Amino acid sequence: MRPTTTVMAGLFFIFLSSVAFGQGAPILGAKVYGPVRDPRELVEFAKSLGFNTLFVGDELATSISFREQCRAAGLKYFLIIRTFNDPEAAKQDASLVSIDREGRPARREGDVMICPSRQDFRRAKMDQIRAALQRLKPDGVTLDYFRFFIYWEGVDPQKGPVNFPAFCFDRSCLEDFLRSTRLELRHRTVAEAPDANRELIEEIWSKHRDAWYQWRVKRIAENARELTGSIRQEFPGLPIVLHAVPWTRDEFNGARQKIVGQDFRLLAPFFDYVSPMAYSALTHRGPGWVEKLDRALLTEVPAAKLLPSIEVGPDSPQFPPMPPAHYESDLEAARQAEAGVVLYHLELLLDDAVRQAITKRALGEAR
Ligand SMILES: [Zn+2]
Repeated sequence: MRPTTTVMAGLFFIFLSSVAFGQGAPILGAKVYGPVRDPRELVEFAKSLGFNTLFVGDELATSISFREQCRAAGLKYFLIIRTFNDPEAAKQDASLVSIDREGRPARREGDVMICPSRQDFRRAKMDQIRAALQRLKPDGVTLDYFRFFIYWEGVDPQKGPVNFPAFCFDRSCLEDFLRSTRLELRHRTVAEAPDANRELIEEIWSKHRDAWYQWRVKRIAENARELTGSIRQEFPGLPIVLHAVPWTRDEFNGARQKIVGQDFRLLAPFFDYVSPMAYSALTHRGPGWVEKLDRALLTEVPAAKLLPSIEVGPDSPQFPPMPPAHYESDLEAARQAEAGVVLYHLELLLDDAVRQAITKRALGEAR
């Protein structure tokens, strides 16, 4: 091939890629979590407010009626996949569950986080995802819990995740750490029982903590390469979204990288969209935060990929109130994003005429 032909072929490929990954019209989306009595009503309601995409879990996506209604209304739907949060898998094999330095499992209420180093789990998860995509034929896929265990919603924005332990110190992670870092440690063998690894864990924690933090970030990036690579190979052109913990790179002493394992500079290239869960009420942040967060994240994520997800309002009395004006300012800030916005969640708009009007107006405005 002559050089000019190579260049032309390259440009054509870039053109095809950008078309295939659908970076055209902004996503105006809403997440739906609750059970739905009447899919037609729900789809019509979403359409009437100006949404063009719904983000739904397996239960709703399985409904043929829901999919037909979406198609008829011209709405797209993205399937939410709970990647490393898998209580069912943990029930079958308790050794899959992530553990902290003391051997405590990564469980919180209904959530059970699986060790990201377990290759057998990652393979099984890809098989599950493949089957779901073939069966449900969504217009996009969105990966939730793609990280190490953290209850980020409960972190005090003033203090950060001070006492939250970093995961995971099970056998698979220790082996992966030793293999990938090639450090000269006094303890180099990994035992089956967590208690037998106490000295090795202590050595890593006291002498090689930075290397351990860096290894965790690489582990999640490798998992992203692996999973998005498989999805793209088998479902070319299907947009892939990452649910991102809504902390800036430097916030809480870099905890998003160190504790969560999400480094957007490494992860963004694998995804079509990086979607920070910028939930103001849930995380006890005030008005103005969404705008600041988005601006900070643009130093890590290309503008065409940053897809903020904001909260409509608190969905439980345990969280601080979020007056309509606060919602409106969050929505206006998020609407500045080139890629679009995703609201969390649609059900909160059902009986709220004030927020419906705010939403309709904001979504209807051209950027
Ligand atoms: Zn592990």
